[in-house]
Amino acid sequence: AIDFKWIRENKDLVAENIKKRNASADLDLVLELYENMCAVQKEVELLREERNRVAGRMKGKMELSERQILIEKGKNLKEELSGLEERLVQITDKLQFEAQCIPNLTHPDVPIGGEEASVMRNMMGSPREFNFPVKDHLQLGKELDLFDFDAAGEVSGSKFYYLKNEAVLLEMGLVNWALVEAKSKGFTPLITPEIVRSPVVEKCGFQPRGQNTQVYSIEGTDQCLIGTAEIPVGGIHMDSIIPDSTLPLKYVAYSHCFRTEAGAAGMATRGLYRVHQFSKVEMFIICRPEDSNNHLEELIDIEEKLFKSLGLHSKTLDMGSGDLGVPAYRKYDVEAWMPGLGRYGEISSASNCTDYQSRRLGIRFRPSSSDLPSVGSKRSNIGSTQFVHTLNATACAVPRMIICLLENFQEEDGSIVIPEPLRPYMGGLDVIKPKS
Ligand code: AMP
Repeated sequence: AIDFKWIRENKDLVAENIKKRNASADLDLVLELYENMCAVQKEVELLREERNRVAGRMKGKMELSERQILIEKGKNLKEELSGLEERLVQITDKLQFEAQCIPNLTHPDVPIGGEEASVMRNMMGSPREFNFPVKDHLQLGKELDLFDFDAAGEVSGSKFYYLKNEAVLLEMGLVNWALVEAKSKGFTPLITPEIVRSPVVEKCGFQPRGQNTQVYSIEGTDQCLIGTAEIPVGGIHMDSIIPDSTLPLKYVAYSHCFRTEAGAAGMATRGLYRVHQFSKVEMFIICRPEDSNNHLEELIDIEEKLFKSLGLHSKTLDMGSGDLGVPAYRKYDVEAWMPGLGRYGEISSASNCTDYQSRRLGIRFRPSSSDLPSVGSKRSNIGSTQFVHTLNATACAVPRMIICLLENFQEEDGSIVIPEPLRPYMGGLDVIKPKS
């Protein structure tokens, strides 16, 4: 449940945060709708009481004419009530829709501004020096017969692809490697549904409706294809109270991701960089509020070690406030060097969503009594239960990892050296060689 009362009481803070995040939320409209909703709710309650009173009086003995008057009154009340209830549903729907644009609060250390304001937090390795002209992943893939974009274009449309030959082993190897690595760090592996109900998408902070939606909706249903496993994993504990002793819960989920990439025209779209369907291994943590900042550090540390173990050169950025996305309180992106494309490209992202998703999904825990009442922010207190915090982070988004591996580990003859940690997951394959 969104705490509209809190938003009303902290209007200036929320307005300032919306500005900081460069968000499109209309706070005045949200508060107006909230006042309207409360007023109509009150009217509905009064009318229901009146209806019950009339129904109660009907049970007693009375003259026929008196009964006739009561029947008439009851009929009028019923009509009035159903009109008001309908209005209440409409206002509540509009309120929920408008409120989706209000972003989470922002960690005080987040740099203010757009992507350009992002601050480098860490750098790993250095770009490999090549003594031969480098090729990009498209050229390499063509020579090694690893992809088919043309057939996919005919069969599915642009920004789809077939993986072929060793690229298939590479995808499965990367997925399995990331799952096994995360499992060894205490994450529970999951394979998730890839179709979810639209309200779950909304509750995770994504917009399944509207013009610029990234979400594929399934016509004639209230279901969507997932853009990330964060959604079904977030939903797994929806509307429940998690035993305190089991926190933190750590999941690592494998799924396909589907994205419309609306508004991506003109952005880097070569080859595998920005596609409509891709495989991803995603970490997800559910924790006590006071632990979420530390878990974000834990997640970025895992990501950095994973990429380093493959020999990638990358940098980690503390993302600017305008680039966080609605649910995140703080976000770290990792960008890796892609020599064929001649630039860094985002390969992963780790976000602390604090209680943004848990409020909407209804995921709570009951702190052990010794922890009460001071645990967490005031916002998170509801009776003796509190909302948990949620975090998500990419362990391995396959297409951009394939770009990195092909472009960084190419040899002059066009072959690709597979990083050692992946080989056991690829049947021992150490080099992808051009077919002569
Ligand atoms: P996000 O869930 O948007 O933070 O994305 C997580 C990771 O998925 C990114 O860091 C990229 O590596 C990858 N990714 C996102 N969108 C796409 C796409 N359209 N095509 C390929 N990879 C993507």
